[in-house]
Amino acid sequence: MPLRRCIVHHAVWTYLFLGFLLAEAASLFTTVYLHRGSTHRSITFHPALEFLMQLGLWLTTGINRKEWVAVHLCHHAHADQEGDPHSPRLLGLWRVQLGNLFLYRRAARDPRVLWYARNLVPTLAERKVFHHTFLGLFAGIAVLWMVFGFWPMLIIAGTHVLLYMFFLNNLVNGWCHARGYKNFPLAVAFNNRFIAWITMGEGLHNNHHHRPGNPSLRYRWSEVDPGWIFVKIMCFCRLAALS
Ligand SMILES: [Zn+2]
Ligand SMILES: [Zn+2]
Repeated sequence: MPLRRCIVHHAVWTYLFLGFLLAEAASLFTTVYLHRGSTHRSITFHPALEFLMQLGLWLTTGINRKEWVAVHLCHHAHADQEGDPHSPRLLGLWRVQLGNLFLYRRAARDPRVLWYARNLVPTLAERKVFHHTFLGLFAGIAVLWMVFGFWPMLIIAGTHVLLYMFFLNNLVNGWCHARGYKNFPLAVAFNNRFIAWITMGEGLHNNHHHRPGNPSLRYRWSEVDPGWIFVKIMCFCRLAALS
């Protein structure tokens, strides 16, 4: 293989890997901050760490925390019943697996769903900056463009968007509500150890629906919850506390 082609070949894999890392970082902030912290209130983070996670999510996903919390609380209130915004039992597995983002956006515009997060008070940074969803995404893209150039930015951002918005989240709301094993037969949803690895623990979804307020999503010794490992490290560093 000519040297130039070899370099380009390796660079593409590097950019794909960077996109994968971005998606994993966004998944980590989603599960520990948006999900376990803001929604279920099982963890409190140091304001500096909270700001960094908000910034990371703003640049990589543009997610509005209040909307995310509302949609997820609505999901718990109606899990796999009428009113669940993204239930494979009601809508079919593949509609949720492939269209989770669109189902989320539709629910996030519904005042009946937003009611679930009526008590969440936005931080100062959210009120001033982070509520500008598209500004965050454009800023994230601009940073990648400046650091890596146009084509690498496209590969990194494209990989991240495909993985985070059309694959990883979808596995939790779609696949884990339709396939897998249960530790708790009376709770909805299923566990999948492989999905747990790539979604920072979220794949242990039957465990989570059994005890939503538990900051750890693992139950058996063989189940790995990377998000919980991160939380334990942050607790050790006094950057987080279990509520
Ligand atoms: Zn669920
Ligand atoms: Zn939850």
